[in-house]
Amino acid sequence: MGRAERDLVALGIATAAILLFVGTGGMVVPQVIHAWLGGGKTPDPLLVSTLLLNIALVIFGWRRYAELTSEIAERRKAEEIARQLSEIDPLTGTLNRRSIGPATDQLLTDAHASGRLAAFVMVDLDNFKLVNDLNGHLAGDALLKLTAERIRALLPKDALLARLGGDEFACVVPYDARNPDRIDQFASLLIERVSQPSEFNGLTFEVTVSVGMAADIPGRAQGSPVPTDAQTLIHRADIAMYHAKKQGKNRYFWFEEAMESELRFRSELETGIRRGIPRGEFVPFYEQQIDLATGELTGFEMLARWRSPTLSTVSPEIFIPIAEEIGLIGELSENLIEQALEDAKEWDPKLSLSINISPVQLRDPWFSQKLLQMLVRHSFPPQRLDIEITESCLHENIGLVRSIITSLRNQGVTISLDDFGTGFSSLAQLRSLPFDRLKIDRSFVSELKDGEDSDKLVQAIVSLGDGLELPMTAEGIEDPTILTKLQKMGELKGQGYLYGRPEDAGAVRARLASAGLLAARAAPDGECVLTDGRRAAG
Ligand code: C2E
Ligand code: CA
Ligand code: CA
Repeated sequence: MGRAERDLVALGIATAAILLFVGTGGMVVPQVIHAWLGGGKTPDPLLVSTLLLNIALVIFGWRRYAELTSEIAERRKAEEIARQLSEIDPLTGTLNRRSIGPATDQLLTDAHASGRLAAFVMVDLDNFKLVNDLNGHLAGDALLKLTAERIRALLPKDALLARLGGDEFACVVPYDARNPDRIDQFASLLIERVSQPSEFNGLTFEVTVSVGMAADIPGRAQGSPVPTDAQTLIHRADIAMYHAKKQGKNRYFWFEEAMESELRFRSELETGIRRGIPRGEFVPFYEQQIDLATGELTGFEMLARWRSPTLSTVSPEIFIPIAEEIGLIGELSENLIEQALEDAKEWDPKLSLSINISPVQLRDPWFSQKLLQMLVRHSFPPQRLDIEITESCLHENIGLVRSIITSLRNQGVTISLDDFGTGFSSLAQLRSLPFDRLKIDRSFVSELKDGEDSDKLVQAIVSLGDGLELPMTAEGIEDPTILTKLQKMGELKGQGYLYGRPEDAGAVRARLASAGLLAARAAPDGECVLTDGRRAAG
């Protein structure tokens, strides 16, 4: 029996009993009173028992009714709490991920009915994990509460606020279609307010936020005002927020269609990289490195190339950062290095091999062990290997970087500082690490084509290297003018398109074969045989 039915039955019993009481009682009560007072005859016992039964029924029915009513009230209260728990975020008291959808749909309908629009604003704290990890969850919770309060203070009365989970908030703000700038102003103000320093337990925190926004302007099909639904708005605002993060955080963006295709391309790249590594789609190309004074070839820099069967050419400047982000740079790089070591073994042993190492790889305390093991496995002399690291490595865990560099150098590997001049490292930092060479970034070198000013800049960089007593390589030599200028500046090595584009292993082999620069290998009869099969004279 349902609760309402039981309710009715109890109420029914009580009512029936009251009616009966009125019916029989009307007759019996005067008789009883009369008898008690000593007059008249004893009342009919049957009628008396009926009356007593009646009274019992009234009491029982009423009590049961009262009990049920309070039971129901309790249950309603519990249900309300459960509903709130499922719709309200307990930490901040805002709506939650579940309830913001239906609430947004309702708000959109209301806004449209009164000729207004609404914007969905996604707000994500930047580096919140760091606050949590460094200061504990209590501090993190306090910061989330404060952030919710700060946002709420900026919102108009009819807006919605929700915490979607973690450090992600969302607001839905109705606005006048003629005044969309209001949302922009709201976003800038929000970014400003939320990033105000805050205190907790004597510690001061500063966080920034990234904001993505989407409005329900499109989606009105054939003149009928069909509002964009909440799910679409949430999805779009999320994409815009992700875009804001990518653009460097602490800023806001409105959703644009292009962001969605960009995101799709990015996820295609991620899957492509995951799949491409085991399928051998990543191959090393090689760029010649030349002694500028003599024009002699001294070695090659290995540059990663992706031979993707589905995507057109993707530059390493795109796929390396993605591989870093998705945690595959180590695997990708090791795969390339193994191939390069095999390729380079076929070259004249006086030719060096330079490889680029990502800062992410230098966070791995086992990196130097791994690299040295690879050298042993491929019987490649460490003295022929040079690793190029960028200045950004110097801003990371400098202790670990130093110990990796030191252990590699102890085995004979040389270390070059890549993209020198672009990373703001101080002279003290440069001195503190045992580099073997500086590579002057191609952005400076290619400028030598035009103007005197750039000549002075490059000359200054060269003098700096001389001062540090470090040999230098100039990257990006594109034409003879640049080459001539560099030759006058000092003793340099160089590389660039003037000497040809990076080539694959086969092309390098052919180039070295014609220059007589392939390694000799021992033939079974002890005679020296070049790796391309020609027999060496003598
Ligand atoms: P990078 O180390 O500065 O490499 C030199 C880049 O300049 C190469 O681009 C090369 O093709 C290009 N270049 C060479 N000569 C010239 C020239 O004369 N003019 C111009 N404009 N450009 C020239 P690429 O191959 O696209 O590589 C781009 C960057 O990707 C590299 O810059 C390096 O930072 C990174 N990279 C490439 N392969 C790897 C790798 O295996 N591991 C890591 N961690 N990074 C890599
Ligand atoms: Ca490089
Ligand atoms: Ca470079």
